[in-house]
Amino acid sequence: MTNKHLNDAEIQQYVLQITNCDVDIIEHVQHCTNCKIKAEQYRFLFDGIREQEKPVFDFNLAELVMEQLPKCQQKVSNETPLFYSIVSIVIFFVCIFFYLFGNNLLTLFEGITPVLIGLIITTVTSILVFLCIDMYKKHQAQMKALNFN
Ligand SMILES: [Zn+2]
Repeated sequence: MTNKHLNDAEIQQYVLQITNCDVDIIEHVQHCTNCKIKAEQYRFLFDGIREQEKPVFDFNLAELVMEQLPKCQQKVSNETPLFYSIVSIVIFFVCIFFYLFGNNLLTLFEGITPVLIGLIITTVTSILVFLCIDMYKKHQAQMKALNFN
């Protein structure tokens, strides 16, 4: 048993975690009225703290936060019109091209065999489709990065 009085940290440990306490500390508290009174005061204080009501907001925090967040539907409506506008612009330019050069195209392809024309059309179409899909996917990824999702 220590003859020196316990400090505050030791008394708090005695009150809160008596199982982890040093044997010297326990023996001292049992024999010293001064430290026993201090321990009782701490016990009373900790009980009072435990009985305190936990602070609760008097408003619905989750609801308020959700109101501040941007709506998911807006994100969807932001993406699809852009895709359709790109597609319509491409179709518009293709139509203008055929309107202006349609007659000349026929004379241009006269000398080329039909198999070659088929090959050219297939290649160009597949490249265009691939580029459009790739661009749209990149655009979606960037929009997602902007929205922190
Ligand atoms: Zn003491």
